[in-house]
Amino acid sequence: MASREVRPEPSCITTLDFAAGAGKIGYVAGPCSVESEEQILATARAVKAAGATGLRGGAFKPRTSPYSFQGLKEDGLKMLAAARSETGLAVFTEVMSTEDVDLVARYADVLQVGARNMQNYRLLEAVGRAGKPVLLKRGASATMDEFLLAAEYILNEGNDQVMLCERGIRTFESHTRFTLPLASVTYLHRRTHLPVIIDPSHGTGHTYMVCDMAVAAIAAGADGLIIEVHPDPSTAASDGYQSQTFDEFQRTMNRCKIVADAL
Ligand code: PEP
Ligand code: MN
Repeated sequence: MASREVRPEPSCITTLDFAAGAGKIGYVAGPCSVESEEQILATARAVKAAGATGLRGGAFKPRTSPYSFQGLKEDGLKMLAAARSETGLAVFTEVMSTEDVDLVARYADVLQVGARNMQNYRLLEAVGRAGKPVLLKRGASATMDEFLLAAEYILNEGNDQVMLCERGIRTFESHTRFTLPLASVTYLHRRTHLPVIIDPSHGTGHTYMVCDMAVAAIAAGADGLIIEVHPDPSTAASDGYQSQTFDEFQRTMNRCKIVADAL
């Protein structure tokens, strides 16, 4: 169902003012984790002013260590919804478990399935039935075939609002947190009609690389970006080392828009 043979025209996924695919570029930005109402509101205002149409923020966090901050859960979802009310940004947030799908879908505009859950097939089916667009992140060691078959699980439930997110894969290389293959954009566009979103934050793991890789992704034809932005990255509860400040995000948007306009 994701194949271009089934549907030759590119799909465009829209919710509120966010649109990605078929010539539209969706810019999503916000903190790795929702930490407080103040933090998410300040970030939402700043990323909206810079030109984002989506707000990201994790309320349920898949942390490597059980001793790390796990997210504010429903309180965090409420803060995201408040930020949407004020700014009109579409809320992107991760759902980690089938039992949380109804709860997260009540607050979110786009359900994010994280890299660690790309092959959680019952979760894929449940988000497929939730009636909301889905951002499916590539598993860190998933092949493209596995990635596309994971998308099929969602599409098969009657949900055709699926976006594919390349967020980097695990390789022998350690100078970046993951290895970000921008060739995924071109490859996936050849095989599928689904929009392709690039995550240069997790894809590099270093703030100083995020802007260049965001611009490169747009130049490669990506349908959108999802970028971690925090009011004060040095104090972030998670992923501060790869998060941009408001000024860095503004500069990234300026550069991306110049490239997008030239395409
Ligand atoms: C995230 O977006 O904060 C996240 C946990 O991403 P991933 O699932 O790609 O690791
Ligand atoms: Mn993160």
